[in-house]
Amino acid sequence: MSPEKKQRALAIYAGLQKLHPDAHCELDHKSPLELLVATVLSAQTTDKLVNKVTPHLFRAYPTANALASADVADVERVLRENGLGMYRQKSKNITGLARALVEHHGGEVPQNMDALVALPGVGRKTANVVLGVTWGTPEGVVVDTHVMRLAQRLGFTKEKTPESIEQALCKIFPRESWDPLSHTLIFHGRRICAAVKPACAACGISTICPSAFKAEKVGRKATSKPKISAAKKRTAKPKVPKASARPKKRPAKPTGRRNAP
Ligand code: SF4
Repeated sequence: MSPEKKQRALAIYAGLQKLHPDAHCELDHKSPLELLVATVLSAQTTDKLVNKVTPHLFRAYPTANALASADVADVERVLRENGLGMYRQKSKNITGLARALVEHHGGEVPQNMDALVALPGVGRKTANVVLGVTWGTPEGVVVDTHVMRLAQRLGFTKEKTPESIEQALCKIFPRESWDPLSHTLIFHGRRICAAVKPACAACGISTICPSAFKAEKVGRKATSKPKISAAKKRTAKPKVPKASARPKKRPAKPTGRRNAP
């Protein structure tokens, strides 16, 4: 990235910080364990829904020990009754990670990337949320759907995958910005720069945003073509060209032979 583009990226981020000085992780939690569990539960759903579920969960299972020895079916029920999807897999993940915490870390959440990603259901993104929010020591930028979209719209990168976007952001921004950067982008993405109909007219950085008023198609996930099942393909009738498109029959050429009387 050219020095000019980097300067512009830093200026845009400074503008965003002014718009969202209160940007923070929106998953409610009171301890590293609660944040870790809440982040695992937040996969494929909203923080709002997770915040509805976790008070019930943490009341029933307040420690890693309690969650480690829980009956998975009971945990499933708590998640399901409070409206969380994928409750089977998520119950397995959080009880499994609680057992791993008890067996290998004395029931405490480890403070390094390698140990965190070794826990069931914990990937790099979750590990960076915990490292960044709890201890201020992330090893990268958390790239979720909002960060992906905004990084592209704001001209920070043209990369498309979370991994390559993370690398690009880590090169532009200093390490101490990695954690607040992701919260600020997520705040802006949720409140102003939505995937559909971003509110450019009300956006405080529209004068320096390279996608202002033309952002709808930037940073959106590609819509996939509807898939045709193999069974449908087999039974599909071959297309008959329209009558107008069919080749016209030519009149038969005279052969020069006379018909027999
Ligand atoms: S100007 Fe529009 S595209 Fe740019 S950050 Fe603001 S809302 Fe998003």
